[in-house]
Amino acid sequence: MYEGIVQDLIDEFGRLPGIGPKGAQRIAFYILAADPVEVLRLADALREVKERVRFCVACGNVAEETECRICRDPRRDATVLCVVEEPKDVVAIERTREFRGRYHVLGGAISPIDGVGPDDLRVRELMARLADGAIAEVILATDPNLEGEATATYLARLIAPLGLAVSRLASGLPVGGDLEYADEITLGRAFEGRRRL
Ligand SMILES: [Zn+2]
Repeated sequence: MYEGIVQDLIDEFGRLPGIGPKGAQRIAFYILAADPVEVLRLADALREVKERVRFCVACGNVAEETECRICRDPRRDATVLCVVEEPKDVVAIERTREFRGRYHVLGGAISPIDGVGPDDLRVRELMARLADGAIAEVILATDPNLEGEATATYLARLIAPLGLAVSRLASGLPVGGDLEYADEITLGRAFEGRRRL
């Protein structure tokens, strides 16, 4: 345990996802020893991202304007909606170049263990988008793990009465993993081979 602000810094890093107490300590000492210019650049990037980047009002993706780049693009197919957990999944799917529709970012997945229910996700916003009649197909591209499957099942049931085509990404994705870790070819194939629910 360290004194005052050094410990505060370690505690701050320790709060970040994927960083344990040892990693937090390593980063804190790296910062202490680093060139001040480099550290200020990091501080600026953090401040700027919080000031300038927000979430798209339509889909929940990260955006620098009211709507994200994809929602503002008139060439994107407005009749197909791909539902994902996080903005990083949008990036992973965009890399495949298989999908020309639009997205809906839930902001996570249903996970009773972590206390995350449908009300904690952007499910109400999704249903509002589907209600306006412009969307004909919904692709459920939640992660191929327990939480992702539970979320897809829940949404498929919720959407069923609307009579839209609902599909789930084909198998072949690494089970138990995250969508973002799938390589472009695998994810692209999963898109092509999506199955109707
Ligand atoms: Zn958007």
